[in-house]
Amino acid sequence: MKRAVAGWQLVLAAAPLIIASYYLLLGAHAGWALALFMTANLATAAGSLIAVRRNPTLRPILFLLAAAGGSIVFGDVFYYLVEAPYPSLGDVGYFLSYPLTAAGLLIVVRRRTPGWDAASAIDAAIVAVGSGYVIFALVIAPTMAIDATNLVRLVSVSYPVGDLMLIVVGARLLLGAGPRTTPLRMIGICLVLKLTADTVYSVTVLDGTYHNGNLLDAFWMSAGFLMAATVLHPDLRRLVEPAAAVTPDASAGRLTVLAIAAVVAPTVMTVQYLRGVNPHVLIAGLVCNVLFLLVIGRMAGLVRAQRHAAITDGLTGLRSRRFFEQTMLAESARSARSGDELSLLLLDIDHFKSVNDTYGHQGGDRVLVEVARRLTGVVRPHDLVARYGGEEFAVLLPGAGLDIAREVAERVRQGIADVPIGVGEDRTHRVTVSVGVSVCVPGEDLVLAADRALYRAKDAGRDRVAYSVTIERDSLARSAAHTT
Ligand code: GH3
Ligand code: MG
Ligand code: MG
Repeated sequence: MKRAVAGWQLVLAAAPLIIASYYLLLGAHAGWALALFMTANLATAAGSLIAVRRNPTLRPILFLLAAAGGSIVFGDVFYYLVEAPYPSLGDVGYFLSYPLTAAGLLIVVRRRTPGWDAASAIDAAIVAVGSGYVIFALVIAPTMAIDATNLVRLVSVSYPVGDLMLIVVGARLLLGAGPRTTPLRMIGICLVLKLTADTVYSVTVLDGTYHNGNLLDAFWMSAGFLMAATVLHPDLRRLVEPAAAVTPDASAGRLTVLAIAAVVAPTVMTVQYLRGVNPHVLIAGLVCNVLFLLVIGRMAGLVRAQRHAAITDGLTGLRSRRFFEQTMLAESARSARSGDELSLLLLDIDHFKSVNDTYGHQGGDRVLVEVARRLTGVVRPHDLVARYGGEEFAVLLPGAGLDIAREVAERVRQGIADVPIGVGEDRTHRVTVSVGVSVCVPGEDLVLAADRALYRAKDAGRDRVAYSVTIERDSLARSAAHTT
């Protein structure tokens, strides 16, 4: 039986009540308030452990998240109850939560995109470098400059460094390929809440305006409850579903995020300069250079992907007709200059309409894909196989004369006719092709000659190879010379 209210909904409903009670109890009942404060990360830890039973495959991820929640609770207990001087063992607990969370999310990233998704990695790097500079300029650099012991400075800097870890992994997770499920969005909100609260906390501590029990506690508590609701969400399993398409599109939303991330560093530097704060010019310059290079790298990837799409046929993966025509021109000119031979085969699947009619368009498509695969298998690596039209293919053979072209054409025809092609579940169909062959001759259009030959092959009964008029004439002349 399905429960009326699921665990994750319960957590989300209880969270505002607990947060409100926390603020109400703060003054007079500090002990109770503290207990309520800790329930947020306790919920993350407990929720993660409960979720392991429902999602055994997510065990390492959930254990890491549980440990992260637990280490924050440990930090709270130490900070508030032991009241040890800063820094204390409590800070170790707080700090550990960052690498633990980052490690858990990293496993999620690896499972979502098993391959190396370079475009997402660059996008994540742009966001991480841009926001990393903000954290550096507003938190890390001023913290390094405070008048304190090295230990105090080190511990204080470790928090923004932890935030950086979360930014890197979080950006990679949110900008990477893979299904955009509710748990994924919840993790995104959770990270934003936590990172905002951490940064505001550090900045206000530095300028002396922070005081215990302010609004930031609501941010940290919400992040804890939200993470608890995330791990209890019924769609959690889909968080690690492998991505179908790897390279993400350059959507408007993504470009906006990237644009903001790229301009934030120079903007912070300018604002600091105008306010009389000395920006770290060397680091800012380096950051801007890295951002430029990342943006250009990403653009290069997009241009390459566009170019590849333009010269590739989507169904068969062969070269497109446009690419074939460009290469034809180049190769004809080269052959005219150097005198190297050049041959062309044009082929057309016989009675393809009836394949479509009998097995449906999908069956027809499977035939096209298989014919393309077989064609690629019988030519040399530097020969060009292209999808010339719907069910017409072109094979350009640079350096090949009639003998080689004849041999390849026969191999192609037999390679397709000899083994029936799978057109559906347990259904095969014997497919044949007609082939027209032409060789490069001065003053003759190579494609036109092959096309005419192809139609003579069709007229002669299909499943055969026919040759251009020039070839036929030459061989007639040769055999006449032979007989006389
Ligand atoms: P012929 O032996 O004379 O070549 O007969 P045919 O039936 O093959 O005739 P034709 O070459 O005119 O048929 C082309 C058919 O190819 C018509 C069209 O529906 C089909 N076709 C074109 N492109 C595609 C495609 O991408 N997928 C599928 N499934 N069919 C396609
Ligand atoms: Mg045709
Ligand atoms: Mg046909």
